[in-house]
Formats: sequence, structure tokens, C-alpha cells
Amino acid sequence: LIQVCLPLNSLGFVFRQARDAVVNAERMFRLLDERPEIADPATPADLRLERGEVRFEHVDFGYEPGRQILRDVSFSIAPGGTVAVVGGSGSGKSTLARLLFRFYDVSAGRISIDGQDLRDVPQRSLRAAIGIVPQDTILFNDTIAYNIAYGRPGASLDEVVEVARAAHVHDFITSLPEQYDTPVGERGVKLSGGEKQRIAIARAMLKNPPIMIFDEATSALDTRAERAIQDELDRLAQERTTLIIAHRLSTIVDADEILVLEHGRVVERGTHGALLRQAGVYAQMWQLQRQERELEQTEQSLAAPE
Ligand code: ADP
Ligand code: MG
Repeated sequence: LIQVCLPLNSLGFVFRQARDAVVNAERMFRLLDERPEIADPATPADLRLERGEVRFEHVDFGYEPGRQILRDVSFSIAPGGTVAVVGGSGSGKSTLARLLFRFYDVSAGRISIDGQDLRDVPQRSLRAAIGIVPQDTILFNDTIAYNIAYGRPGASLDEVVEVARAAHVHDFITSLPEQYDTPVGERGVKLSGGEKQRIAIARAMLKNPPIMIFDEATSALDTRAERAIQDELDRLAQERTTLIIAHRLSTIVDADEILVLEHGRVVERGTHGALLRQAGVYAQMWQLQRQERELEQTEQSLAAPE
């Protein structure tokens, strides 16, 4: 959640702490509130969520003047639908997620939820409607229970345990000396990328928002762990408006629409089947990943013959 919101380059001390992926929550929110360029409207009315339709219309964006990152990006996610974004590193995928969460404002075009421009609603009500499983999860300097419950303040321990089970991180947590009370961070346990990612997934499950963003949500997991958790993620995506930024194409074959991004531009779009028939960039990526999967399977069967 927090990773996505930070212009790390411009916030020196947070960057130093963020290297360790643990920060103090209050400090973080003070900083966020101090970003003057993202202002609430003068007389904001809360976001009225109807069916959770997300629209990007001709969106241009750059982090700094003179360097455009997104160019004329348009797509819409139907209520309860799923749009997936694929593309090379640096093509602007995570930037789409940051804009939907309104960590930055578009430089041209418009992003709306159920017809309401993101710039016209209070940030608090916008962020309450959206859950993110980010690429690099940053945890708070607090207990594991706190870090999961952060998805829904006031959640009971039972609820925390339930989502930790679903995110396949409960067994790991209970193997720690202080279990759910174990502090993470500087004076606590150091978590692997995969463990942090599962905690972020548990957090999103607990928040239970109508709109979900997965930004390479399982990139830190190995194939087997990813498969184990994929069903839970699919369930989380079902009946919710979902934006998936995918690193493994096998997880998005059922998306309503797949966008292929190159240098901030949509160069191909369509369903998995249509894109394969098109025999373009996406079809090439698919072939490549299929070969990798086959290789991996061969290696596995050689390692453990049945
Ligand atoms: P992806 O998720 O597809 O790998 P990103 O959306 O993270 O790509 O980044 C797209 C481009 O924007 C990259 O060239 C990256 O260097 C640049 N970028 C990302 N974040 C910032 C930032 N906070 N300030 C300036 N440039 C950034
Ligand atoms: Mg990214």
C-alpha cells in the first residue's frame, strides 16, 4: 500500500528507511498530507460508489516536466471486471496503479470511478475504496498483527488469523516465538520478500475493498508458492473491479481485456485469445513464458522423478 504512494526520490529520509521496507506509519501519513500538489477539492463530496466502474480517458502523465511516462492511455474496467496490464520493466505499469490511487494527478485526460473524477473526491474516501497489493510491500515498525489489521483498523485477532491462513502465511507466523505479536523491522524479525508479499495479500483481503489493484502481487514468490496462493487471489478478484499488473501471463488469461504497454503507450489490447491470434508482442511474450514453464517442469521432474 505504502510503497505505491511514495515519491521515494524526493523524500530522503523515508527512502533510507524504505530500503529496509519498514517505516513508522504516522511519519508516513504526515508526509503524505504535506504533498500540496494533491489537494482535496474545496467542497468535497465523498466518492459515491455505485458499481465500481473505473475509466482512464486519454491519460498523459510524467513525474517531471519534459519526461512523459504515459501517453494517451484509455481503458475501462467494467464493474466487477478485470483488466490486466503487461509490458517491460519501466513501461509505466506501476504508474497506472499510482494514478488510480491518486498519488499523482494526470497531466492530461481524466481518471474516474463511477463517473466521478478522482480530483473531485476526498482522497480519504477514494483510498478507502481501493486495495493494493504492491510490488514492494513496506511494513510498519509494529507487530505482524498490526501490519495485517492495518487493512481494517479494529479487526479482531480471529479475523486477522483467518486472512493470514488464506494468504498462506499463518504457519510461518505461528512458527515465530511471539507469533502474531512478533515485531517486524529494526528491532524485530526480518521478513523475506515472499513473506512480506503474503502479509500484503492478507491485508488486502481484510480490507475487502470494492476495487483491487495487484501490482505484480506474487513476483517475490516461487512458482509453487504462487500456485498455492493463486486461487485466493482469483477469489479476491472475483466480483470486484480489478486492475492486475502481471509478470506471469498464465495468471491473466481470463482477464476481460489485456493491455500491452510499451514506453507508456498501449500498443496492443484484447483478450488473451485475440492477442494470441494477433501474433504480435503479446503472443511472443506468451511463447517465451511457455518455454520457461516447460523448462521449469522438466527440471522439476528430473529432480523428483515420480
Ligand atoms: P513499470 O511498473 O512498468 O516497471 P513504472 O511505472 O514503475 O514502470 O515506471 C515507469 C517510468 O517512470 C520508469 O522510467 C521510471 O524510471 C519512472 N519513474 C517511476 N517512478 C518515478 C518517480 N517517482 N520519479 C521519477 N520517475 C519515476
Ligand atoms: Mg512496476
